[in-house]
Amino acid sequence: MKTAVDIYKLLPKTNCGTCGMPTCFGFATKVASRMAPITACANLSAEAKMALAEELAEQPVARGTVYEQALISLRPKIAALDFAKTASLIGADFIGPDTIELTFLGDKYRITKERIIDKDGKEPVPFISILIYNHLSMPDPPAPSGEWITFSSVPASHAKDKAWAGHVEEVIARHFTGDVEGLEKACERLGGVQSAVKGNHDAAYEFRFFPRYPVLLQFYDAVPDEDFPAQCKLLLDKHVNRYLDIESIVVLGEEFAGRMTA
Ligand code: SF4
Repeated sequence: MKTAVDIYKLLPKTNCGTCGMPTCFGFATKVASRMAPITACANLSAEAKMALAEELAEQPVARGTVYEQALISLRPKIAALDFAKTASLIGADFIGPDTIELTFLGDKYRITKERIIDKDGKEPVPFISILIYNHLSMPDPPAPSGEWITFSSVPASHAKDKAWAGHVEEVIARHFTGDVEGLEKACERLGGVQSAVKGNHDAAYEFRFFPRYPVLLQFYDAVPDEDFPAQCKLLLDKHVNRYLDIESIVVLGEEFAGRMTA
C-alpha cells in the first residue's frame, strides 16, 4: 500500500508548482487520497508515472493514508480542548465554545471540534489540518521570546538538519539567486513584513506562520566574483519547539519554501 510519504519519496522534490500544488509534499497527499492523478507531476518520467499509476489503481482508496489516520487520531484530542483557553494561548479568535478562527500562513481557517474549513468552506489537504491540530494541541505554548535561533539550535533537530537545509533554505536561496527584488515580492505576497534587524543580508522579512509563531527570513544574494553562492537563513523563535513538534516544523518549512518559489 503506497502512502503519501511513499509517493513523496518518489517525486522530484523540486517544489516547482506545475502540478498546481505549491509543494511535492502537498501533491503526494492529494495523490494518496486520489484527489489528484500522479500524471499531473510535470517532472516525473513517463515510466515512473505509469508504474505508480498502475500500482495505485490496484490498491483500494484508503481512508488509509498516514495523514488521514493521523487526523482521525488527533480529532478526539482537539475535541477535548477548552477552545477559549486554547484561543487565548495561541492568538486565535474565539468564536464560540466549539469554534475558533486561526490565521495560518496568511490564510484564515475555522476550526470546530469536528473539522477544519478554509475561507471557501472546504477542508484543506490533510497535512495542513495536521499542522494546525499539532499546533493547537501543544501544551501551554509561551509568548514568543523575541530571540532568534537557527534550526540546528532547536532541541532534537539533529536528524532533520539536512532536510531543513536542503528542502527549505537551499530551495529559497537557489530560486532567488540574483533576484532580490523577486524574493521581496514573494515575501510580501505571503504576508512578510520587512524586518529592521541589523546585518549584512540583502533582504530580511518577518512572518507569522501562526499568530504566535514568528519566523525571520534573511537572504544573502550570490557574489559571483567571490564564488559566494546565495544563502537563505530561516530563523525561528527560541520557543519554536513549544509551538510544534520537530517533524511538523520541517513540514511547515517545506510548505513555506514551496509557496515562496511557486
Ligand atoms: S509538478 Fe508538483 S509534484 Fe512534480 S515536481 Fe513539481 S511540485 Fe513536485
